[in-house]
Amino acid sequence: MHPELLDCYLQLCLDPGLPRERGWPLFAEATELVELPPDRWQRIPRLTPAAAQAWQSMQAAAKQDGIVLELISAFRSYRYQAELIARKLDSGLALEAILRASALPGCSEHHTGRAIDLATDDGMPVLEPQFAETPAFTWLQQHAASFGYFLSFPPDNPWGLMYEPWHWCYQPDR
Ligand SMILES: [Zn+2]
Repeated sequence: MHPELLDCYLQLCLDPGLPRERGWPLFAEATELVELPPDRWQRIPRLTPAAAQAWQSMQAAAKQDGIVLELISAFRSYRYQAELIARKLDSGLALEAILRASALPGCSEHHTGRAIDLATDDGMPVLEPQFAETPAFTWLQQHAASFGYFLSFPPDNPWGLMYEPWHWCYQPDR
């Protein structure tokens, strides 16, 4: 997509009209981020310092219990989220269909640098509902809260978003 077109699109998305209409929360972009080891695609995930430390402690504790937790996605900028949606629009998907699975720029918890998408080593496609059937998910349900991580989008969540068993957010004060 042409960069100027993307800028226009980003401005349009950040217009709070649509999120307000849908009752979606708006999230500020994290300002302080630290880098984590490369993911399976050799991208460098970033989280806030506290979320990163809690994630690494949680991953190590899971490993001790024989559970592999792998980071699939962490911090995302507004621009990255806009590009994600623009690519889906380009591929011919309708905005309504896209918004059932992807947040508008500004509305993704990943902007905060405290949200993580997780996978395990079962060889299955990532970010799919089947993650809820894995021992890794059972482990998370039992232990994630003690590291400050909570499931953001349980079934029938108030935002009408898809159930995302893989998406956890660091909220130590919850
Ligand atoms: Zn997510």
